[in-house]
Amino acid sequence: MFIVMIASECAPVAKVGGLGDVVFGLSRELEIRGNAVEIILPKYDCMRYDHIWGLQVTYQDLWVPWSGGQIHCTVYFGQVHGRKCFFIEPHSDENFFNRGGYYGFPDEHIRFAFFSKAALEFMCRAGKRPDIIHTHDWQTALVPVMLYEIYQHQGMGDCRVCHTLHNVKHQGVAGKDMLWLTGLGRPDHFCSSERMGDDFNPVNFTKGAIVFSNFITTVSPRHAWEVRHTEWGFGLGHTLYLHQSKFGGVLNGLDYDMWNPEIDPAIPSHYTAKTFAAKADNTRALRERQLLRDADKPLVAYVGRLDTQKGVHLIRHALFRSLEKGAQFVLLGSSPEQGINAHFWALKHDLNDNPDCHLEIGYDEDLAHLIYAGVDILVVPSLFEPCGLTQMIALRYGTVPVVRAVGGLADTVFDRDHSERPEAERNGFVFDHTDTEALESALDRAIDLKTDRPDEFRELAMRGMGCDYSWNKPGQDYLNIYEMIRHK
Ligand code: ADP
Repeated sequence: MFIVMIASECAPVAKVGGLGDVVFGLSRELEIRGNAVEIILPKYDCMRYDHIWGLQVTYQDLWVPWSGGQIHCTVYFGQVHGRKCFFIEPHSDENFFNRGGYYGFPDEHIRFAFFSKAALEFMCRAGKRPDIIHTHDWQTALVPVMLYEIYQHQGMGDCRVCHTLHNVKHQGVAGKDMLWLTGLGRPDHFCSSERMGDDFNPVNFTKGAIVFSNFITTVSPRHAWEVRHTEWGFGLGHTLYLHQSKFGGVLNGLDYDMWNPEIDPAIPSHYTAKTFAAKADNTRALRERQLLRDADKPLVAYVGRLDTQKGVHLIRHALFRSLEKGAQFVLLGSSPEQGINAHFWALKHDLNDNPDCHLEIGYDEDLAHLIYAGVDILVVPSLFEPCGLTQMIALRYGTVPVVRAVGGLADTVFDRDHSERPEAERNGFVFDHTDTEALESALDRAIDLKTDRPDEFRELAMRGMGCDYSWNKPGQDYLNIYEMIRHK
């Protein structure tokens, strides 16, 4: 099959979170299985250009219809660790992707609507006729709408679209003007509640993707249920319910080459479950780097965005509870929200002299690898979590996850003491509620096990390393979906 991914992120060249990991990892898996995969991305000025090989212009003059006129674009091609990537660079006064950051601008919906349109225009003009177009999150959610309404009449009628909802909280909304910008027009048609109109906005991009795609996925089976039946549908539960015959949950995989303690270039000491003792060298290296005292104490960590979604009050509580229980704590994270960032900076300042904790506020890929390899316990106390990659990375690195039983966390981590699963599948500690006592009910057990029965703790950590959360199964699941919609 010929598959084109259209996305706003692809690791490691343009990564903000799990979306980037998924676009890269899934593409790689599909290629290994003999498919042709191409990825279309915006050409951001802030990308990691050191991860692109052979970047060159491949399509000089792409004129993208926009707002009644046209915007001139140049398309580049380059390889990102073996993946074939096209980068679209618009030349207009708006400077859509030359702003020193990926997200967080007031005209966000216009930037990515334009990118979606440009990606379709590029495929159309360059004669690309993929069997499957796979779009990701709200940024590219208008692709299925424009494909169905515009581009299928321009020779792309055989392309089918699979759209993945990575985070339904962010849906992409706009006024009717969006219909004129994109050339869709016909507000009476598109703004109706059966198409893109929601309770508050004339145009909801994600709703459009749900209605117009051939198949929609979210990133774990549990979350597929949650978005239809709980508040985590963020207003789209009913629409998903109506379209549930073409909707399903496919657990994200983890790129087992990128995340592999046996060969990871970012960690000083390589190890497997068989050579587990070597993990301790990484713990030492981490303590040294983070100026933590070298002590025989359990080491707990949080790695991830500091977003309300991630349970900020529980992250904070995990830090203090760990210290109270005689453990050490490291945190690596950042937030686009001023308030949350300021809160953690203040915390960092207050705890500056504490030799048992370190807060690193920012984004640091290499440090993340060292933390996964060096710590004993990783907390993921999310309020909601479509899939979550950090708990899967932790398992891969023999680090025991302590998670809240929600979304993909509930699909991947099973409580050592209370799960209904067979003992061989139990790989961490799980709690249900969002109060601090709930977190303690799991974190305390993890810390106590590490302190009082280290052999049993090691056994649990090694069992986690044996879980298979690679792209192997999800890769096949996606191929099955592609096959199914391809013949419709
Ligand atoms: P989300 O997509 O909601 O941010 P995921 O758990 O799906 O969360 O994916 C998070 C990914 O981003 C993981 O690969 C994690 O290691 C990485 N990550 C998040 N924050 C940071 C950070 N501050 N520094 C380095 N890596 C980070």
